[in-house]
Amino acid sequence: MRINQLQFFDRTLRRFTPLEHIDVTPLPLSEQQTSDMSNVTLDGGYLIPALTDIHTHSDFYFDSDTANQFAKNMGVAAQVGGLCGFHAVFDETQVTREAFEEYAAFLGTKGSIFTSFDALFAAAENADRVHAQLLGLNAYLFSYPVTEQTDLDSYVETLAGVFEAYPFAGISVGLAYHPLKTLPEAVFQTLLRKLVVRIPTVYNYHIRNQNAQVFESLEEVFACHRGAKAHCHISHLKFAGATHIGQVDARFAQFQALMAEQDFPVTWDVYPFSFACTTLSQFLPESDSWSKMTQDEVITYLEQNPPYDFANVVIACRLPAYNGLKLHEIAAQKGLSAEQAYYEIVCELEGIGAYFRQFCTDDDLAELVFANDAIIASDSFGVENVHPRCTHTFTKALACAHQLGEAAFTDMVCKLVEGPQRVFPNLPAPKAYLYIAFDETVEVALGSTEADIDKKIVQCTLVHLS
Ligand SMILES: [Zn+2]
Repeated sequence: MRINQLQFFDRTLRRFTPLEHIDVTPLPLSEQQTSDMSNVTLDGGYLIPALTDIHTHSDFYFDSDTANQFAKNMGVAAQVGGLCGFHAVFDETQVTREAFEEYAAFLGTKGSIFTSFDALFAAAENADRVHAQLLGLNAYLFSYPVTEQTDLDSYVETLAGVFEAYPFAGISVGLAYHPLKTLPEAVFQTLLRKLVVRIPTVYNYHIRNQNAQVFESLEEVFACHRGAKAHCHISHLKFAGATHIGQVDARFAQFQALMAEQDFPVTWDVYPFSFACTTLSQFLPESDSWSKMTQDEVITYLEQNPPYDFANVVIACRLPAYNGLKLHEIAAQKGLSAEQAYYEIVCELEGIGAYFRQFCTDDDLAELVFANDAIIASDSFGVENVHPRCTHTFTKALACAHQLGEAAFTDMVCKLVEGPQRVFPNLPAPKAYLYIAFDETVEVALGSTEADIDKKIVQCTLVHLS
């Protein structure tokens, strides 16, 4: 395939240079795809290094060709998996497969759950894109629980042995998820501090609360890092909910000042979507609370801890009667309050399902996405309930930056190409390139629909230079 009159991104110069023409070989989207592109000639557009996505749950879909195609369609040739505390490995001598499947169900296909890290890393070797893996502390704790009686020194020593036996890229910690969510604070603090000191790698945090308590939640993890060398990475940073609306420039400045005060490396990433998607049971104290608490307890808990914009939460699940509907719509059909309807839905689905909701305005989101030190990552998951994070994270960021002019576009490309190495210096950069071209007549924004982004991007193909 030949491309004429294109802009080629030079990694060393960190800018685009014009090229008369270049010959490239497109990478097939899937193993089945064999269409011959050798005689195709294209004009214009940009050739940039293929992207690394440092936040995915791709370890749950080694067997999914759809997930591979999603990644390639957004220019991704290398991924880091095992984020938010979840890796796809459980110890069958400690917990049942059924229990682990239920625990990790919101992350994807059961076929990619492993009973050993040997099996996971063997699958990673055979994946059709580069896959780096984190050790997920939550999933580890699910097989090997700790209590106030646990000898944490020997626990951490055993965990360090596992970490050192495999080529892990780091550790991930999900404070909003079971079992860490309900671990006594003193036990959590002691465990994390001992880990950070014993294993000086990069720790990727899904912090406890990204709404009103975001700064307390940041301090909770920063406190465990002070005086140690380990790298602290904040995943999918958000200033979510009513208390931050219209205030994100001030909050972000506060966050920058806080990072500058720390004596250890801190980085952060963001995805360019103002709506979130996570497990349906996330509104409750524990993922299985719906089965442990009475209906009255659940409803009282939700009324006392009202989730932001609860009535407009959109349910994503296997039941057509609920899938795609807002809580207030389901509540009206049932003649119930949103809280009562939520409880019924979770019970009926036995806790398995996901939800979407708007968590900030697009103007506030832009403060983060276009910040100089932002790293863009997808947090993609769920090939069953597809979130646009799986299909348009990087392409949307590129399209929106391109509309702001050449300088903004070059800045975005620099961030996408260099960001992953700021967190994982040893990750190999992908050898492939992304060829992307835009329709200048189509206007998009961070809040645009997938269909509009599709119209804006006229070419998007991973290629090798011939
Ligand atoms: Zn995640």
